[in-house]
Amino acid sequence: MIKVNSGFSRLKSNYLFAEIARRVGEYKNTHPDDALVDLGIGDVTLPLPSAVVDAMHHATAEMGRKESFRGYGPYYGYNFLREAIAENDYRGRGIEVGADEVFVSDGCKSDCGSIGDLFSEDTRVAVCDPVYPVYIDANVMDGRSGVFDDSKGKWPGIDTLYCGPENDFVPDVPSGDEACLIYLCFPNNPTGASINKAQLTAWVDYALQTGSIILFDSAYEAFITEELPHSIFEIEGAKKCAIEMRSFSKTAGFTGMRCGYTVICKELMVDGISIRDMWIRRQATKFNGVSYITQRGAEAIYSTEGKGQVRANIDFYMRNAARLREGLFAAGYDVFGGVNAPYVWVKTPSGEDSWAYFDYLLNEKGIVVTPGSGFGDAGEGFFRMTAFGSEESTLEAIRRLSEKCGHVSSSSGLTT
Ligand code: PLP
Repeated sequence: MIKVNSGFSRLKSNYLFAEIARRVGEYKNTHPDDALVDLGIGDVTLPLPSAVVDAMHHATAEMGRKESFRGYGPYYGYNFLREAIAENDYRGRGIEVGADEVFVSDGCKSDCGSIGDLFSEDTRVAVCDPVYPVYIDANVMDGRSGVFDDSKGKWPGIDTLYCGPENDFVPDVPSGDEACLIYLCFPNNPTGASINKAQLTAWVDYALQTGSIILFDSAYEAFITEELPHSIFEIEGAKKCAIEMRSFSKTAGFTGMRCGYTVICKELMVDGISIRDMWIRRQATKFNGVSYITQRGAEAIYSTEGKGQVRANIDFYMRNAARLREGLFAAGYDVFGGVNAPYVWVKTPSGEDSWAYFDYLLNEKGIVVTPGSGFGDAGEGFFRMTAFGSEESTLEAIRRLSEKCGHVSSSSGLTT
């Protein structure tokens, strides 16, 4: 008899968003006339930049003509896009990355899940806590986690790196010397935290010393506003120990378009084997590329017009983030993030647990947030709000939250 992958039965149920949907559905059934403000889900709301739409129209017309029609594209992305990425996101920032080290994909989530194909089942894994859940679930499916130990509340094959207010939500480098796959995500989802050059250097040094590999998810790189590293490859030695993954989803409104990329440099070798070559082999076998039309749309992000439009969209979201930060602070909350990331991470005011406070906000304020405990144990007692909503819903959420303490900051101008 065929045996199914036992990793799937080890997965914990995808409780977070299903449970949010259940509770929100229940509320809507009993309060059909109430307008909820939803700042829970991390999806963009602004439409695609017009430069992207124009480029896709043009590409669509090309696909409709015999002389310019294209069938299967290269597995790793068209050279025009790989070159635009290498030039704008790397060389333009003084980082020498070749187009042949850039691998275009249908998004960062796919790459986060697929990269595990390159590493053996007994490789140790380290993830932040709280964490974007895909990193854990992908490794559970791949058999790297072991069976969840209820008594310890841990996966035996997965180390968790605590991130809290005490370390500014940036994990401390461990004292051990075991090689592992280390997932770092900065700017961070869910905490909105960012990592500075010294902190990232410490991680790169640690990876080099221990033979570890850092999987650096920088899906939110475009939201950085302060003097911080935009790429792990800005750090000396990182090409030998890191893989970087990026996404056009949040940067340019591509959540429904699907395009991102992974950078693996030629210097990244394990036991004399090129990880880049393995990824080439893996993608050639299991992936057939991103549509030509989508890649032309992605390329347009790097045109002068596209850059301006993308900047305007990001600025819009970051104004929402600033409003959330200031408004929540004025309302008496401890607020983190929102400066270099489109998320704010908020402490429940009196130590309530995340779900209890979720219920309070839903039922008393008509606001949907994401309970922090859904991202890991260290998220307990926090909730996440996104800056991806409209200006109106952001301001309305702040107004409702401010009513709690009976004061609304008039100086911040947030109540209009
Ligand atoms: N990585 C992080 C940290 C994310 O928050 C998300 C989306 O929410 C993704 C990756 C997924 O990116 P993509 O849409 O490119 O698959």
